[in-house]
Amino acid sequence: MLNRLVLLLNQNYEPVSIIRAKKAIVLIFLGKAEIVERYDGIKIRSPSTEIPLPSIVRLYRYVNIHRREIPLTKKNVLKRDNYTCQYCGKRKGTMTVDHVIPKRLGGKDTWENLVCACIECNTKKGDRTPEEAGMKLLKKPAKPTYFQLLYSRITLPDEKWKQYLFLSS
Ligand SMILES: [Zn+2]
Repeated sequence: MLNRLVLLLNQNYEPVSIIRAKKAIVLIFLGKAEIVERYDGIKIRSPSTEIPLPSIVRLYRYVNIHRREIPLTKKNVLKRDNYTCQYCGKRKGTMTVDHVIPKRLGGKDTWENLVCACIECNTKKGDRTPEEAGMKLLKKPAKPTYFQLLYSRITLPDEKWKQYLFLSS
């Protein structure tokens, strides 16, 4: 139970990291963090006290996090899109990076113009825009946050995390 994952938020509700429940409880007892969300129905008992198992905790004081700029690389584009083809949703097989607006039309190498695509979709789309090819993107590509990229493959232990994740940093 003390190994359950807890989402640690900054004072401004921006995700900082994912920690173990044990560490979250220490932060709470030290008066450094408060419980924002709890795992339903689970309590931690000690001989003298009982507290709900936190799912999300928030720091009382804002911590400055110096994060490097995320490099725009093929690997990071695929990671941002969770290795999922952004046209057909396929997750298996070799993935490529597709220029949404093709280079011949001035499409740039940017987070907003590069998406993960399977070989079939990339070939089918060819040198056309999605509209020309009659294909639709699953979601609008955007620059990922550091947190999003770091934990892109984690299975969320609690649905409540969703509303706190994917905030811009
Ligand atoms: Zn595809």
